[in-house]
Amino acid sequence: MPDDRPSILWFRRDLRLGDHPALMAAAEQGPVTALFVLDDRLLRASGAPRTAYLLRTLRALDTDLRKHGGRLVLRRGRPEQVVPALAKEVTARAVHLSADYAPYGAARDRRVEAALGDVPVIATGSPYAVAPGRVLKQDGDPYKVFTPFHRAWLQHGWRRPADSDPATVTWRVVDGDDVPDDPEIDADLPDAGEQAALAAWASFRDEHLAHYEADRNRPDLDHTSRMSPHLKLGTIHPRTMLVDCGRVGAPYARQLAWRDFYAHVLHHWPNSAHGYFKPEMAAMTYDGGAAAGRAFEAWAGGQTGFPIVDAGMRQLLATGWMHNRVRMIVASFLVKDLHLEWTRGARHFMDHLIDGDLASNQHGWQWTAGTGTDASPYFRVFNPISQGQKFDPRGDYVRRWVPELKGLSGKAVHEPWTADPVPVGYPAPIVDHATERVEALERYAAVTRQH
Ligand code: FAD
Repeated sequence: MPDDRPSILWFRRDLRLGDHPALMAAAEQGPVTALFVLDDRLLRASGAPRTAYLLRTLRALDTDLRKHGGRLVLRRGRPEQVVPALAKEVTARAVHLSADYAPYGAARDRRVEAALGDVPVIATGSPYAVAPGRVLKQDGDPYKVFTPFHRAWLQHGWRRPADSDPATVTWRVVDGDDVPDDPEIDADLPDAGEQAALAAWASFRDEHLAHYEADRNRPDLDHTSRMSPHLKLGTIHPRTMLVDCGRVGAPYARQLAWRDFYAHVLHHWPNSAHGYFKPEMAAMTYDGGAAAGRAFEAWAGGQTGFPIVDAGMRQLLATGWMHNRVRMIVASFLVKDLHLEWTRGARHFMDHLIDGDLASNQHGWQWTAGTGTDASPYFRVFNPISQGQKFDPRGDYVRRWVPELKGLSGKAVHEPWTADPVPVGYPAPIVDHATERVEALERYAAVTRQH
């Protein structure tokens, strides 16, 4: 008698149907039941914008599955209970998934595997071009520095996109919950789902990939790919993008290597998600108390009086995304001008970013704060005025996000306090950058003296 027991394909950070190795592996065994588990623990860790974006992505995946006779079976609860319960209900022959390397995901998967008993868990593929753990030094140690990691990453290479085809799959549908309504959000989010991801990639590839290196630091031009929310949820796999890169796309591929690098760092040093990668830097003194609280609120609300900082923080609140150069500027400002601990800023980012990703975010913050892997040296303190003048040379980015400064033309927008009259309704700078720079360097010197 033919064995037509279905396999469960448990979707997590791979919310697409194309270029999906785990889908291929499941379909090779017979019918497939598509599952997503709404895990309250993960939802609690995600701010409302990212939750809304996830729910929209799930609706898009369900729509795509229905085109091929399938349906996304959504179940709410703890994965170690939900997955075995569904496996029993459909008498699953196996549970297929793409491997998760982040600390919570990896521990969750071990619990689910134990709870499944005899039903095997089969992991095929990962959200990365090269999965964490594969690129190692010759002596088997993990890299701590990006440049040699990147070289080895290029040498290792990656597979071609997988040929998964949802039209050829026999989908086995069972009852599930409806995707809940979006939480209320103020941010205006980009389109979600695999079709949106492919369209966004095609448009970036055709219009901006060739001059990415020249433009990527210019927030006013807005010529970066904005693929990060799609990569976060796996509506596209980096491999699909890498095949289009070739020589002209090498600088872009290098950024995808940073994504793999930080996932690799988190995999090998899971404590770096919340602890200091350079432990000696934990001795740095930060400000606390009511004044620090007010400074943090001004930063978070885009009311510091430093136009490029405020533009970035307002872009984050309005869109759930911020340009990379501006992420570095606002992070440096929080740590080195306001003397607040990087973990505070990292938490705010995770609450508001739709691409919020533990590996890229925590290590991006640690890099800026001088506490991470091959970090920018602590003494390199970004000057928010000259950074604005250099990377937003006509002031368009600031005017787009800080309407109080619309009346100022060109570069003048970066120093509104020199205008005559000074624009109404925009705050004066909350600190003096030159003074705080000296203060930051003194605190740094105190830490290095101890070590
Ligand atoms: P592009 O310039 O088009 O780059 C293409 C892709 O390469 C990105 O989508 C991303 O996947 C990857 N990439 C680019 N730069 C980096 C980088 N420095 N580190 C890791 N991957 C990179 N990225 C996130 O995806 N999630 C985060 O939570 C996150 N938090 C950050 C926090 C700070 C303080 C800093 C400095 C950077 C952070 N980044 C984060 C990295 C980077 O800012 C974003 O990936 C990038 O701005 C996304 O926009 P894009 O897709 O247009 O990027």
